[in-house]
Amino acid sequence: MSSSLAKLFIAGEWTEGSSGERLPVYNPATEELVGEVCVAAAEDLDTAIEAAQVGLGEWRKVPAWDKGTILFDAARQLRGRAEDVGRSITIEEGKPLQEAVAEVRRAADFLEWGAGEARRLYDRVHAGRSVGNVFQVRFEPIGVVAAFTPWNFPIVQLAKKIAALLAAGCTCVAKPAEETPTSCVALIEVLLDAGVPPLALNLVFGIPDKISSHLIASPHIQKVTFTGSVPVGKLLASMAGKYMKPATMELGGHAAAIVFDDVNVEKVARYLAARKFVNAGQVCVAPTRFYVQDAAYDRFLTSFTEAANKIVLGDGLRPQTTMGPLANRRRLDAIEQMVAEATESGAKIHSGGSRIGNRGLYYPPTVLSEVDPNCSMMQSEPFGPVAPVNRFSSEHQVIEAANSLDFGLSSYVFTQDIGRQERVCADLQVGMVGVNDVPFHLPELPFGGWKDSGYGTEGGIEMLQGYLKPKVVSTTAF
Ligand code: NAD
Repeated sequence: MSSSLAKLFIAGEWTEGSSGERLPVYNPATEELVGEVCVAAAEDLDTAIEAAQVGLGEWRKVPAWDKGTILFDAARQLRGRAEDVGRSITIEEGKPLQEAVAEVRRAADFLEWGAGEARRLYDRVHAGRSVGNVFQVRFEPIGVVAAFTPWNFPIVQLAKKIAALLAAGCTCVAKPAEETPTSCVALIEVLLDAGVPPLALNLVFGIPDKISSHLIASPHIQKVTFTGSVPVGKLLASMAGKYMKPATMELGGHAAAIVFDDVNVEKVARYLAARKFVNAGQVCVAPTRFYVQDAAYDRFLTSFTEAANKIVLGDGLRPQTTMGPLANRRRLDAIEQMVAEATESGAKIHSGGSRIGNRGLYYPPTVLSEVDPNCSMMQSEPFGPVAPVNRFSSEHQVIEAANSLDFGLSSYVFTQDIGRQERVCADLQVGMVGVNDVPFHLPELPFGGWKDSGYGTEGGIEMLQGYLKPKVVSTTAF
């Protein structure tokens, strides 16, 4: 296996950083060392911030149409590299190669959507209050952005943020997850090749809390955007608040999948099993709490378990694999603990339930029933291939259960009854509802959570909003 070194991109140059320190990158399928990532020291971060500040002066002057052209070209280049970049994602994160390649193409979709939105950035003109008086509302780039992204979809998470902030005329210091650096390096490469001014893009890796506390405290950082867990999101949001900086927080979820007894139960069970185990369940909008109405419960459990048993667990580079390993040891430990706690408190295991082998972070699709609603699998985001399936009787009861947590990212309801679809949709306290559907985040849709799942949106025609600040200009002709 070849070994890679992910460098930092600071002030227009690829650099190993001033400390010379590196962190290891492992393949979760084999637990072998597959690369290293350079660590940014405080002085490197200062250089990156300064560069992004200078780059802002340059990038914001690029006409909106040309910004679009550059982002379209970066997307085209990225598509051309989809196979290779996808392979690096599989090696560093574990997902099957076809999912990884699809992720790279989706990152290109986000760049294209950003390109289009860059060209559709409108200011407003209002009638004034007197003859010769005109009001304008201009939208200006907010400035230099500190962007933090996680390991589960390494390139798409970074692409969403960078496409939006560049489209708005901002520049950045981006810190993706250290465990999955290579696709992020590739994203920066295609953006530079396409013509983004080098100072506008700065990429750093290192010790996450040192980097975030240094960046957020800097007076030149004007905006914080983070995708990751609720506890880290709250920490970064409080730091941003301390320095009066706006923040976008895309945090975790714990999506209820509600199945009423009027559906084709077997079909829905197969569909939900396919969606549940994508990326080994390490998806913030994955269905994670299954509530099935009494009359459909046994049939659902049987079909869902059958579908889970058909999943082929293995190294994502093998063509027959349909689910890869967990991405890191933290997830493996957390899932083992959650399953142990659930079974101790009475849950029954129908499939999976323990780690496979002792090399590679393999945990099989695991289906549980009669799970105590108070145990951690039902309370905190599982972020892994575990599916607790519980029963419910009434619509009122299941809505209460679905809304009972502090998460508010997404929920799914399966029913043929149109009136019920509308009622449940209206009552669910989340930023995204799937009705007979579990959609992925597509660029044309705004995406963001309610409650502890965060604030601000990514994607959709709202994509640029978080990176713009309004300036009102009132002009009078004397
Ligand atoms: P974590 O909370 O330690 O880290 C989550 C992400 O934040 C990682 O990418 C990490 O590098 C980064 N991070 C951590 N501390 C940071 C800090 N002080 N400053 C800046 N960045 C920081 O958890 P983890 O073990 O990496 O992931 C587990 C949990 O994270 C999951 O259970 C899930 O809830 C959440 N998560 C959510 C998403 C998402 O798409 N919303 C993605 C990945 C992880």
